[in-house]
Amino acid sequence: MRQSQLFTKTRKEAPADETSKNAQLLLRAGYIHKELAGVYTFLPLGIKVLNNIIQVIREEMNEIGGQEVSLTALQDKNLWETTDRWDDKKVDVWFKTELKNGGELGLGFTHEEPMTRMMAQFVRSFRDLPQYVYQFQTKFRNETRAKSGIMRTREFIMKDLYSFCKTKEDQEKYYEIAKEAYIKIFKRLGLGENTYYTFASGGVFSKYSGEFQTLCEAGEDEIYIHDGKKIAVNKEVMTDEVLLDLGVKREDLRVAKASEVGNIFNLGTRFSDALGLSYTDESGEKKSVWMGSYGLGPARIMGVITEVLSDDKGIIWPESIAPFSLHLISLSKDKSGDSYEKAEELYKKLKDSHVEVLFDDREESAGAKFADSDLLGIPMRVVISDKSLIAGGVEIKERKSDKSEIISIEQLLTMYTKNC
Ligand code: ATP
Ligand code: MG
Repeated sequence: MRQSQLFTKTRKEAPADETSKNAQLLLRAGYIHKELAGVYTFLPLGIKVLNNIIQVIREEMNEIGGQEVSLTALQDKNLWETTDRWDDKKVDVWFKTELKNGGELGLGFTHEEPMTRMMAQFVRSFRDLPQYVYQFQTKFRNETRAKSGIMRTREFIMKDLYSFCKTKEDQEKYYEIAKEAYIKIFKRLGLGENTYYTFASGGVFSKYSGEFQTLCEAGEDEIYIHDGKKIAVNKEVMTDEVLLDLGVKREDLRVAKASEVGNIFNLGTRFSDALGLSYTDESGEKKSVWMGSYGLGPARIMGVITEVLSDDKGIIWPESIAPFSLHLISLSKDKSGDSYEKAEELYKKLKDSHVEVLFDDREESAGAKFADSDLLGIPMRVVISDKSLIAGGVEIKERKSDKSEIISIEQLLTMYTKNC
């Protein structure tokens, strides 16, 4: 993509009312646009990053047998009354709306109910189980606090996976499989080191749920970390009993601020029993289906990555989710000059080899281009100028380490086109 054609522009200052670092950087760099408090639009660069995060998650969900679907955001009042989750006193984040011909609809804040009811149409016998179904779908939540940029918004994409198993044991086994998949996902997203599997409140059927918490000053949670075991306990459930359960001592834990990027649950048979999702086993006996649910917030993850992997100059995307692999910058002021022609040629070759490259072909000063490049956070900057050509080719500089070197154009092409 040519930077001159991008409709978004970078800005020096973030809007005064934007207090979180992730929103400030993402707004300044032109990844997002603020619509309302807690409501953001993803711009061309932003949607690329979000989709890259989604793709990493999708691959790992498919790897553990997930089948992708997409449920509607519109929710049936009767259905949610059946599980006693319609009342605003029970769930305080509902957005609800009225139908013209009478009656109410809700905007889904999660999807256990419609997912369970849908599966009840398909699951009959033990032969139909297990099933693992997931989606990337828009959730609506009437959050009271919306000051953390894209880490807490009133409309957001959630990846929600639901498992349907024959027995408690099968369900618990799958929970562990999903947990491992999450660990892989955070590793691939560059958050492996500072994300902790955290014991948190479990809801109705199990003692704990598993939160994935990433260390982050802007996070709204406090967790107690055991470095030796690489696990943590959410402050909300920190009791002597929990410490005993986990076999850890209070003095071996350190407290830190973190953001909940994912949450997984053993749901037992709460939803299947309420909504008539059962199966007949090998001996013809009717049994309840055991369920689990597994949530992840791709946009919150994008916000957390912005928070924890940035420096004072801007964002530093991990290669796995960066909007582009290369930021090619021509320093030629004159579009008829030799170095500009070389840049065009290189851009074309990279593009033809399907390398994701952003080409800064604008008529801006070198200083402005470098500042924008640092702000945008593309992993590798490639500068081509009369000077670099004389020195032997292009100057490449890694955003993360700031290390730079001159390499020939051929070397660059082999480096970036060998995997294509
Ligand atoms: P929180 O405690 O932060 O409000 P939650 O426990 O209510 O989150 P879950 O219902 O567990 O959230 O949702 C699963 C995942 O969806 C979360 O782990 C998080 O990554 C993401 N998520 C939840 N709420 C939001 C939100 N308002 N904006 C963006 N992402 C969200
Ligand atoms: Mg949660």
